[in-house]
Amino acid sequence: MYLKQGLIMKKIIFSILICTMLSCQENRPHGNQYNLPELTPNNFLIGHLNENRSSYRVSFYDINIDFDIEKKSLNGFVTIKAQSIRDLHKLQIDLAENLNIKKVTHKNQNLSFSREFDAVLIDFKSTIKKNSIFEFTVFYEGVPQSADNPPWAGGFTWSKDKDGRDWIAVSCEGEGARIWWPNKDHITAEGDSVRMAYTVPSNLVAVGNGKLRSVKEFGDKTTYEWFVSNPINNYNISVQIGNYVAVQDTFLKDSQTHFMNHYVLDYNRELASNFFPQSKEVIRFYEKYFGDYQWYEDGYKLIEVPYLGMEHQSAVTYGNGFSIYNGVRSKSWPMYGVIDPLIMHETGHEWFGNSVTASDPTHIWIHEGLQVYSESIYFEDKFDSYEVGVHYLNTIKNRIVNEIPIVGRENENHWALHGDTYMKGAWVMHTLRSVISDDQIWFEILKEFMTENAKGFANTNDFFKKVYDKTGIDYWYFAQQYFYSPNQPQLEYYQTDSKFFYKWNNVNDNFIMPLDLLVNGNEIRVIPSQYFQSFEIEKHSQIEVMDWKFYVYPKEVKFK
Ligand SMILES: [Zn+2]
Repeated sequence: MYLKQGLIMKKIIFSILICTMLSCQENRPHGNQYNLPELTPNNFLIGHLNENRSSYRVSFYDINIDFDIEKKSLNGFVTIKAQSIRDLHKLQIDLAENLNIKKVTHKNQNLSFSREFDAVLIDFKSTIKKNSIFEFTVFYEGVPQSADNPPWAGGFTWSKDKDGRDWIAVSCEGEGARIWWPNKDHITAEGDSVRMAYTVPSNLVAVGNGKLRSVKEFGDKTTYEWFVSNPINNYNISVQIGNYVAVQDTFLKDSQTHFMNHYVLDYNRELASNFFPQSKEVIRFYEKYFGDYQWYEDGYKLIEVPYLGMEHQSAVTYGNGFSIYNGVRSKSWPMYGVIDPLIMHETGHEWFGNSVTASDPTHIWIHEGLQVYSESIYFEDKFDSYEVGVHYLNTIKNRIVNEIPIVGRENENHWALHGDTYMKGAWVMHTLRSVISDDQIWFEILKEFMTENAKGFANTNDFFKKVYDKTGIDYWYFAQQYFYSPNQPQLEYYQTDSKFFYKWNNVNDNFIMPLDLLVNGNEIRVIPSQYFQSFEIEKHSQIEVMDWKFYVYPKEVKFK
C-alpha cells in the first residue's frame, strides 16, 4: 500500500509541535512507554492463533458472491477446504460482525455457531480427526463496510465513472478480508489457491485476481469466474466491477512469452495501452535484484480503480490517473520522470508482501520499508548512480518522525502501517548497507532473503539471521535500536585545534554501530561508544558525519 500523504503531513506537524515543546530528541521516552495502539478484545481474537485457529490450515477458498449494486450489498457463500492439524470439535473463522450468517454447513448438515465480535466459532457434530481433509460452507449476506479513505481506510468504494456508470472496488489491508467474506483472517493463513465467482449485472464486468476461467450469463446477470493457483494473502483477494475492457500486452522472459491482460475503463483503452508497458521495466528490475516474479501462472495485470491503488496479487490496482508531470504522485517528483510511482510501488509489493509476507503485521516493514528502499535501488540502477539513489532517500527523509518503533507487539493484529515503517524502514536498510560496507554481500543478502522466503513468511529476526549468515556478524543490536526503539542515534561531537571528540547519544546501551566520517575529504570509520573518544586532527580540519549514508543525527555540542 502507498503511504498516505495526509498522514505524513499530520505527523510532520505533530512532530514539529513535539520538538518545540520537548527540545527535539532529548526527552523521548525510553523503555516500553511508546504510543502503540491498545489491544482491543476484537484484535485479541483476530491477532493471535488461538487453539481454535491453529488446529487447522486452510488449503482452498471457493468464494461465490452475488453483488446487489443498488443496495450496496452482498449475498454469497464461501466453501473453505482445510486440513486438521489435530483432532478438533470446533474452529474459529472470521467475518465482520455486521454481516449476517445465514447458515454453516458440513456434509449437507447445518452446524451450530456462535459469534463474538468478528470471530465465528463453529461446532462440528463429530470430531474431525487429525490430518483429515474437510470442508465446510458459510452462507452469508449483508452490506459490507464502505471505504472512508481507500486504500488506507478500506472497504468498498461504490463510485461512478466519468460517464455516470457504476464503478466499484474493494480494498482491505489492515481491515482484513473478513469485512466482505468469511475466512481465517490471520496474515499467515493463506489459501494455496482461491476460486472467485463474482455475479454482477450483465452490463458490467467483474475482475478478480489471477486468470479468468469462465463467463456465464444467466438472464440479466453474469458470473465471472477467476482463479489464483498460488498462495495469496486474504487481503489481496479483490473484486473490481465496472465497464472494463482488456488491454493486452506480452512479457518475454527466458524466451517464453507471458500474457498480461490489464483491465481499464472502456474510454481509457488507448491511454492505458501506451502507459502500462512501463510495468515490464519494473518487473525486470525486481527480478534482477530480488528474484523471479512468483505468479507467472496467474499472470500480471493492472486494473484501473476509483482510488489510488493497491498491491492486490497478480491484479495490481491503479488509480493514479495516468499522470506524467502533474501532482505529487506523478512521474515528475520524486521519480525523475522515469516511472509512475504507483505502478512502481504496488508492483514491487509482488515481491515485498505478496511473495515474502510478514509473519505478523507488526513486522510489515518487510512489505513497506523494503519496498521504499528498493525504489532507491531502482534509481541507483537506472541512472547508474549511487548519488541518485541517495537523493531519492533524502527526498523522503524529512517524513520520518521517530515517535513509535517500526516493530511493535506481535499477536495483536497491529498493522504497523505508519510513516516510519515506510521511510525510516528504507533508511534503516540504507544504513545497514553502509555499516556492512560490502555491496556484493549486501545485494546477496537481499536477494537470498527474498528467494529463500519466496511464497513464505518472515519476520525481523529472520532478516537479521540472514544478515548474520552472510556477514558472520550479529547485528541484533542494530535491529533493537532501529526497529524496536523509536530513537534516532545522535552523534555528539566537538573539535578543538588538535582533536575531534565524538560519542553516541539517544541509543540503547548495547549500540555499537560503526560510523563513517569525512576528515578533510578522507573517509574514516570510527566505532563510537556512549563516552567521548577522540582522534588527533590538524588545526582547521573539516569533519563531516556521513549522514547521507547512515540514519544518524549529527549534533555538535559545545567544547567543555
Ligand atoms: Zn506499500
